[in-house]
Order: sequence, then structure tokens, then C-alpha cells
Amino acid sequence: MHEDYLTITVPIFNIQSYSIHDGPGIRVTVFVKGCPLRCLWCCNPESNLATPQLMTYISKCTGCGMCIGSCPQKAISLKIDGDKAHAATDRELCVDCGKCVAACPAEARELAGKTMTVEEVLKKILKDKLFIEGSGGGMTVSGGECLMHPDFTEALLYASKREGVHTAVESCSFAGREVVDRVYKYVDLALLDIKHMDSNVHKKLTGVPNELILDNIKHIYHDLKVPVYIRIPTVPGYNDSEENIAATAKFAAEQLGSDVQVHLLPYHRLGESKNESLGKKMNMSIEVPSDEHMQKLKALVEQFGLVAQIGG
Ligand code: SF4
Ligand code: SF4
Repeated sequence: MHEDYLTITVPIFNIQSYSIHDGPGIRVTVFVKGCPLRCLWCCNPESNLATPQLMTYISKCTGCGMCIGSCPQKAISLKIDGDKAHAATDRELCVDCGKCVAACPAEARELAGKTMTVEEVLKKILKDKLFIEGSGGGMTVSGGECLMHPDFTEALLYASKREGVHTAVESCSFAGREVVDRVYKYVDLALLDIKHMDSNVHKKLTGVPNELILDNIKHIYHDLKVPVYIRIPTVPGYNDSEENIAATAKFAAEQLGSDVQVHLLPYHRLGESKNESLGKKMNMSIEVPSDEHMQKLKALVEQFGLVAQIGG
């Protein structure tokens, strides 16, 4: 690790304290911006780009118009809906500079993504060290995709381990072997997504095929000896067929080991409102899966001799 690793920066869109879904115990989860995949159902669309992105919240907008003059691009205008006015942003003109955020008294505008150093993020993690240690928790780097920022991720994991903090990563494993080897030196637990076992379908759903992903997962488990939990974002109509869940469980049981847990993460609709805030439309409408269906899929995974759970 080079000397000035604490000064390495990355765009962060959230640091969540008291997180209980991203590994064991109470954790601090660090969400970095930028992802090489474009999952159709993405629940964190503000993480897609590795640059800041403007988010707007119409429900908070009072129509005061104070943001209009602050925009150097002249991207903001007032729209009237019935008897209510609100600010509308022309996304073709907007360059995500964030100048309108400070001008808005109603917090109806926000810039997702703040550049932070390893040292700044580490300070936030260590603030909760007592709770982390008392609960058998740690820190988790999530995203976005942390492997897109290997310098930062490696340095933050290294710095956390030096402080005695348990480390986990949440990753889609779509990265070159050299990056994987660098980052996983400092990882205690890998939470790895598999979105679909059929590579062609995987490409349609996420934009990339799955061969590299499955290969990296085997490498992380067998060669790097990092404990692995497989996570399946379970999206009705896209990857929640019994056939696909069984194929994923078979991969975990046969290509990895019986100590690999499988976590079925039910689709939720948070991504839909976030897309609206980013001025985008989701090209799909998905219902959340029923409890009954999730229980059935869990039982299916357990038939392969694996520990399965619903949720992270
Ligand atoms: S973020 Fe976009 S809308 Fe806001 S001031 Fe900058 S260019 Fe204008
Ligand atoms: S400053 Fe805020 S509240 Fe006022 S019009 Fe702009 S977005 Fe709406």
C-alpha cells in the first residue's frame, strides 16, 4: 500500500450507519458511485455514473422559483400543474453542477455524489466502532460497484482492517482478475450478486454476460479463500423462475461449497421514485414478489443443502 493511501478519493453517494442488511452484525455501509452494469431494475440508479447527479423532489418543491436564476445553463423553468407551480429541469441542458441545490430553501434539489478521501470515510466508520464491535459487525463497501474504484476500495479495506474492523464487499464481480486480487486481500466476507445463470439473459438484463462474474466468484472462494454469500436480487418476471433459482443454487453447491449461504433479496420499488428524481423513466413495471413465492424459492435453495435466507 502506498504511503499516501489515506488521501485517495472516490465519489460516494451514501454512508449508512447502523446497517443490518449488508453482512453480519451492525455495519457501516459505504456506497461508492459508478457501476459497469445497468440492471433494468436497479434500486440505486443514482449510483450508475461515477460523477455527481442532480436529483429533484417535486413533492418538496414550493414553486418559489429561487433556483431558476442560479442555473448557469438556464435549464430550470417553472411549470404549472393545476393550481400548483413547480420547478422543471431540462436534463438535456443540465450538467449536474449542483449550483441550484444551494439556492433551494425547500431541499427539493440534491446532488448525489460527494468526493471523499479514504481518511474521511474511515473517520465515519470509526465513529461507530463501539457498536460495530459489540454486535460482531464491521464495514461493507457497496455501490454502485466498488471494483470500479480499486485504488480507493483497496485502501479503505486496508485502513479498516488496520483498525481491527471486519470488512465485507458487496459486488457484482465484473472486473479483471488483477483488480479482484488486489481488493480481496483485505476482505473478510464477500457478498456477491448473481442476477441470472443464463449468460444471454444476463446480458439482456444487465448489459453484460455472466462468464467473467461466475469465474471471479469461483476464484474468490477457492483461490483467495474468502467466505462467500451469494445474493440473488429476486425480480418477478425477470430472474425469479424456479429454473433460474435452482440453477444458481446448483452453482453455489457444486462449484463453490456447502458453507456458501444464498440470500434471496426480494425486489422493492424504491428505484422507481429515484429514477423519477433523476429525470429518468424505468422501462418496466414490476410488482414486489409475494411472501409465499419467496418462501418457495428459499425451500428450493435449501434442497441443495445450502443455508438460504430471504433478505440480506
Ligand atoms: S445542476 Fe443542472 S439544473 Fe442545477 S444549476 Fe447545475 S446545470 Fe442547472
Ligand atoms: S428553489 Fe426549490 S422549492 Fe423553489 S422552485 Fe426551485 S426546486 Fe422548487
